[in-house]
This record gives sequence, structure tokens and C-alpha cells, in this order.
Amino acid sequence: MTNNESLLNVRPVRAFTDNYIWLIDAPASPGRVVVVDPGEAAPVLAELKRSCASLAAILLTHHHADHIGGVAELLAAQTVHVPVFAADDTRIPQATRRLRDAERVDLPELGLHFETLHVPGHTLSHIAFWGHGALFCGDTLFSAGCGRLFEGTPIQMSTSLRRLSALPAATRVYAGHEYTAANLRFALGVDRDNAAARAYQEHVQALRAGDAPTLPSTIGLENRVNPFLRCDDAAVRDAAVRHGGRALADEVAVFAELRSWKDGFAA
Ligand SMILES: [Zn+2]
Repeated sequence: MTNNESLLNVRPVRAFTDNYIWLIDAPASPGRVVVVDPGEAAPVLAELKRSCASLAAILLTHHHADHIGGVAELLAAQTVHVPVFAADDTRIPQATRRLRDAERVDLPELGLHFETLHVPGHTLSHIAFWGHGALFCGDTLFSAGCGRLFEGTPIQMSTSLRRLSALPAATRVYAGHEYTAANLRFALGVDRDNAAARAYQEHVQALRAGDAPTLPSTIGLENRVNPFLRCDDAAVRDAAVRHGGRALADEVAVFAELRSWKDGFAA
């Protein structure tokens, strides 16, 4: 895969309790922005007004309401056509282009180019957008965690996560929720001798004490601290085996055990 490495200017807009809607400044068209997963319209419209920016395109990773719920209202507030690039799913009625794996989203007038990765697991049609050294991965990969399996299987999700973990280490990870602190409590319950995760927890606690976002993370950091990307690690596997009380044949079985452990974990 090739990628455009020019750095993007990305800012979060908070929505609901812990969602992030990401606003990307168009490098080639100052004052125009692309919005990722606008679950709510009002905070996006307020940020556009505050920053005197106009909406140029919408990217949607998956169909859940907290990621697409604001699209109709955002489109209704525009006087020009705004394209909507979305996961290929009829549950996203506003899509103007439906995307699967390894497709390109080229917006030359904005100076933006992304490739898609189909990453089933949280939902079956979930996609991620990758470009300019940034990854917009919705509810597939979180910092120190991953999304719940609402529609996909453990093998689908672990394959999706393996693909994301193979992206360049410097790739900045823009996930859909601020779950990092709770995820790290689980991660350290699994992988308690992980010094990188321990150091990251201190950093995250300082950020959250100041109400600052912990995102973006990077793929390199996630590969060190995220147990769901470390199912091949002996300490992670041993913890999963101890928790499950049975042998786990392969990395997918380790992943499945971790995911069900996390589902019942009181953070
Ligand atoms: Zn979701």
C-alpha cells in the first residue's frame, strides 16, 4: 500500500458522552473541512461556525446512530452538494458513494486522498479510512482496546485488527470514542507487567485530569499496549488461558477469550 504522508490538521468535536467526531482541514482549500462520523449535527455546526469553516465532505465508518445520526441535519444545513463516502450498507441511506475494501477516496480539490480498509467485526460493513499517515477507524480499534462484536465473528475482528496493526507505526489513530482510561484498566489486568502500558496509563491519567483527549494514538503505541493487538504475546496468551480455564489453540481463540473477558469486565 502507498500512502500520502503530508500531515493533516485534525480536531475533535465531542458528541454524546464519549464520542469524537473528527474534523479534517482540507490542505488545498483553507476554510473547508471534511467531517468523520457525525453522530450529532449541533456540535459540528457550532464548530464550523466558530472556525468560519464550510463542510466539504462526510466520511462514515459504519452505520451506528452515534456515528451517522447527524448526517441528515448537516446536509440539510448546506447550500451546496456535500458528498457522503460511507461503508457499503443500506442502513446508511445518505451515502452518495458506498465503499468496501481497498477503494480510493480522492478529493483533489481539497488535497485529500484516502484508501479504505474493510474491517468487519464491530459491524459487518465497517470500513476505515487511511491516508496522510492518519487512520479513521470508527469503532474497530480504540486506544488500548477494540470495539465489541455486534455483528462479526472473532476471526473477522482479529483479522481486521491485524491489518490495522500492520500499518506504519507512525500512523495516527483517530478512533470514535474516548475509552482509553477504561481500556487501560483492562489491558493492565491482562498484561500487568507491560511497562509501556503502565507508562501510557500515567500519561492518559494526566490528560484526562485536564479533560484533554487521549487521541490520536499511533499504531506503534497500540502495538505495544493494546492486548487485542498482542494475542501472539506469551503474557497475553497466558492471561487469557488462565481466565478461560482452558487451552487456546491459536491467536483467534486468544482474541475471542479476551473480547468476552472485556465484555464482562467492570472498569
Ligand atoms: Zn459502533
